[in-house]
Amino acid sequence: MPIYNAPLNDLGFVLHEVLKVQDSALPGYEDLTADFTSAVLEEAGKLARDVFAPLNEVGDRQGCVLENGVVRTPEGFKAAFDTLREGGWTGLDCDPDYGGQGMPHVLSTAVGELSVASNMAFNMYAGLTHGAYSAIHAHASDALKAKFLPKMVTCEWTGTMNLTEPHCGTDLGLLRTRAEPQDDGSYKITGQKIFISAGDHDMADNVIHLVLAKIPGGPEGVKGISLFIVPKIMVGDDGALGAANSLSVGKLEEKMGIHGNATCVMNYDGATGYLCGDAHKGLRAMFTMMNEARLGVGLQGLGQAVVAYQNAAAYAQDRLQGRAVTGAENPDGPADPLIVHPDIRRMLLDQKAFVEGARAFALWGATMLDDYKSTGSKDADGMLSLLIPVIKGYLTDKGFDSAVKAQQVFGGHGYIEEQGMSQFVRDARIAMIYEGANGIQALDLVGRKLASDGGKHAMAFFEMVKDFLKDNAADAELKEQFLDPLKAGSKDLQAAMMYFMQAGMKDPNAALAGSNDFMHMFGHVALGLMWARMAIAAKAALDAGTGDAAFYKAKLATGRYFMARILPETQLNLARIMSGAAPVMDLPAEAF
Ligand SMILES: Cc1cc2nc3c(=O)[nH]c(=O)nc-3n(C[C@H](O)[C@H](O)[C@H](O)COP(=O)(O)OP(=O)(O)OC[C@H]3O[C@@H](n4cnc5c(N)ncnc54)[C@H](O)[C@@H]3O)c2cc1C
Repeated sequence: MPIYNAPLNDLGFVLHEVLKVQDSALPGYEDLTADFTSAVLEEAGKLARDVFAPLNEVGDRQGCVLENGVVRTPEGFKAAFDTLREGGWTGLDCDPDYGGQGMPHVLSTAVGELSVASNMAFNMYAGLTHGAYSAIHAHASDALKAKFLPKMVTCEWTGTMNLTEPHCGTDLGLLRTRAEPQDDGSYKITGQKIFISAGDHDMADNVIHLVLAKIPGGPEGVKGISLFIVPKIMVGDDGALGAANSLSVGKLEEKMGIHGNATCVMNYDGATGYLCGDAHKGLRAMFTMMNEARLGVGLQGLGQAVVAYQNAAAYAQDRLQGRAVTGAENPDGPADPLIVHPDIRRMLLDQKAFVEGARAFALWGATMLDDYKSTGSKDADGMLSLLIPVIKGYLTDKGFDSAVKAQQVFGGHGYIEEQGMSQFVRDARIAMIYEGANGIQALDLVGRKLASDGGKHAMAFFEMVKDFLKDNAADAELKEQFLDPLKAGSKDLQAAMMYFMQAGMKDPNAALAGSNDFMHMFGHVALGLMWARMAIAAKAALDAGTGDAAFYKAKLATGRYFMARILPETQLNLARIMSGAAPVMDLPAEAF
């Protein structure tokens, strides 16, 4: 069975030595002492290792089954869900007014990594509930909040997000599900939604669906979309469960991965729903929780890369094949372990440099979410909104690549189901597609976010990098190994932005043809910044002689690898971007 160990030292390092959350003035951060976060993460790590991880392969093998209209989850899922609920984990960062613990997102994000790494499909049930909770919390009336939120915080009732229909995924303006107003203020919802994650299951008493639908007579396209709360079982004013609502699971989708999560076709046949937020403003309501949801999906890419890497690293130490080219390193054995071979080390270091950099990037993003939520800072919101398509798109693209590299370390044994590597690859794949396919993330970054507020947030990012480089220039070794490569990557990124501003004005295809490269380039530079910050923290610890010297030396070596071998990819990205629209657009559609 694959291993999973919660990376507690790495999380602690990022939280307390790099981001220094304990010194932050943000409300709620005063609780985040190293003792407190390590106690929480240790418990979360035990849950991940002992409860969730052993069910990962069970969920993959058994999958979900639709029986008499109800979805049955794999063996052990219900008991594990009870354990998750009983520990209070589902409400960690939720509003105390509704029974949550009110902890900062940076802590729930750290816990979230452990959950998705150990069992992504299982933890999606609580993840989707959290997304639905956030939308209701931000937009519903007080009466609806009081009715639904307390049970969703505890996951006694779980939640879903219903956007997709057979003929519309990305282009939600096409959606057809109708919402007819009723005399009592409710609506009758009719239509079909497909691919609905956690659409039904046997682990909770109720499922609260959030459904996008159009009220007849409203504006055309996306401007006419409203958001509705549609419970599976009706809830009385006293909170008691009543009759079943008029909705059903049409079928369960057969799919490539995340078999333990029920992906449902949902049929709404005049189901009772309640308007959440203003009529026709449903998409805007969804957008307000988009940053949080996309950060969560980015974390899925990271999580699968983490668990795949841990297994590949262990295998490379163990598996004996061939001899080191410089002479036997295991002379008493029949061969040397895989780890001696430079190409195996390349693959492992690509993974290690990605996961450690991406972890810092995701947690840094979570601090901006906390800043915005607790202080209303428009700058924090603007910067996070700029970075979110990068966190979602880059972390899931690279997370998948990383899982494939981990599989490659296993050779043929990686392709065989027994080792578990195939599941990590299959599970990681979906994160590149849902919650806005990665092509759409790149489009969002280049088409909207770069220019939002007059380009203020993009400029603020470059200023931050510039100030960082200036503030730390005194250390010659740091400058040569970390700061100069970061400066070069950041210059490439700025050159690409300038190109978009000039060429993109004349021909929008020139910008969109380079959008994927730009998203990846931004990811490289953001991780470069994270690695430079981690290098400073590691050097400080080594100079002070505190902690485990081997841990900090490994950080520096991994960071040097990132700077030398991964960050320079920005040059290739820039060259592709500067080639403009023609190489992509010249070929006529009929020639494909
Ligand atoms: C396992 C699974 C779980 C899911 N869970 C949910 C869920 O819980 N709730 C929910 O509502 N949906 C869910 N989805 C649906 C998912 O969000 C959509 O599949 C996704 O948004 C893409 O929509 P689509 O499949 O219709 O592809 P399309 O919209 O048809 O897109 C196809 C391709 O074209 C690209 N594309 C589309 N438009 C453009 C454009 N203008 N410019 C450039 N490229 C473009 C896309 O990036 C994509 O690569 C899930 C899907 C799966 C497979």
